[in-house]
Amino acid sequence: MSGVLAVPVQVLWPGLVGGTRVKISGIKLYQVSLPMKEGAYSWSNQSFAAFDSTVVKVETDEGIYGVGEICPLGPAYLPAYAEGARTGIVTMAPGLIGLDPRQIGAINLAMDRLLKGHPYVKSAVDIACWDILGKVTEQPVYTLLGGLQQDRVRLFKVVSRADPDAMAERLEAYQEQGFRQFQMKVGADPDTDIQRIRKVVARLRPGNRLAADANCGWRQHDAVRVVSAVSDLSLYIEQPCETYEECRVVRDHSNHPMILDECMDSLHAVLRGHRERAMDAVNLKISRMGGLTKSRTIRDVCLGLGIIMTIEDTWGGEIADSAIAHLAHSTPPDMHFQSSAFHEYATRPIAEGGPVIRDGFMAMAGAPGLGVEPDWKLLGQPIASIAS
Ligand code: MG
Repeated sequence: MSGVLAVPVQVLWPGLVGGTRVKISGIKLYQVSLPMKEGAYSWSNQSFAAFDSTVVKVETDEGIYGVGEICPLGPAYLPAYAEGARTGIVTMAPGLIGLDPRQIGAINLAMDRLLKGHPYVKSAVDIACWDILGKVTEQPVYTLLGGLQQDRVRLFKVVSRADPDAMAERLEAYQEQGFRQFQMKVGADPDTDIQRIRKVVARLRPGNRLAADANCGWRQHDAVRVVSAVSDLSLYIEQPCETYEECRVVRDHSNHPMILDECMDSLHAVLRGHRERAMDAVNLKISRMGGLTKSRTIRDVCLGLGIIMTIEDTWGGEIADSAIAHLAHSTPPDMHFQSSAFHEYATRPIAEGGPVIRDGFMAMAGAPGLGVEPDWKLLGQPIASIAS
């Protein structure tokens, strides 16, 4: 049986140096701060001047390496935090040394056996393995994820929570930059949020789209009040309350398209939402699902069910953005609602080769793998290194 398996491996990857085996020889972690250009990024009741990101380098005995990135949006947004990502990767790493990073299904199975749950911990390692697979096969990751379906990826720009007039001014500036889809942050005081929505919608140019994203911030009764107060306006409502059940009630009182985000944390959640007609779109965040492998599965199920998707992540620099772009590039444009490019919001790049942004879209150049090369000088010495 092993002889039968050896043939397709050789046929599929003829460019491999030294035969049919590649082994993970080391895993290194780098910590980098992502300061915000606008001084702070604010949503619901949270605000940060910088985000704590982790870059993972998965090295192989063939000299090829892959990179991934995980950047939780602070420690209190989702059940995920930067130190937890790093601790979790260090916990799993010894069990991953010696495995073949091209066999990504087996890598994911190994990670799930080494650490129960904590999908965000596994995301950067999974992304780095896709990067390796792309480099070995000399294909961009989007080709490996199903093939190119759109040559540029529609972006949305976040209008960070601020006072209502300031948000309306920012919307104008972003429209001038060519963006046509927007996500305004609400989820704080509901009465001020009603003003925010009214003032921002008033400045929205014809044909442009807007979602009011509460990021779980409203109580159910307040959310019902807000959607009723803006029922005359055309916009999307995103994750008004913390739980699926609360959001479901809000949807019953709303005539706006509903996007579910934070509570869509698994394939089961998406299937339940579809069965119960709880949403019109899903926000698919790569790290929340556990990486590109599991996000691809959910993406493909959503395609089958006819659910449009926002494809993004919890935050990050050029490396996380590249993973987003590759998944979105391999998604049909009519099923891809929008994506985000977080590196745009930071004061400095952490890698070269990230998505090019123009006129409200982003695109990857088509280099093998993710196509990004971290700024190793900026990243400095690894904060953890596990080797065989
Ligand atoms: Mg959201």
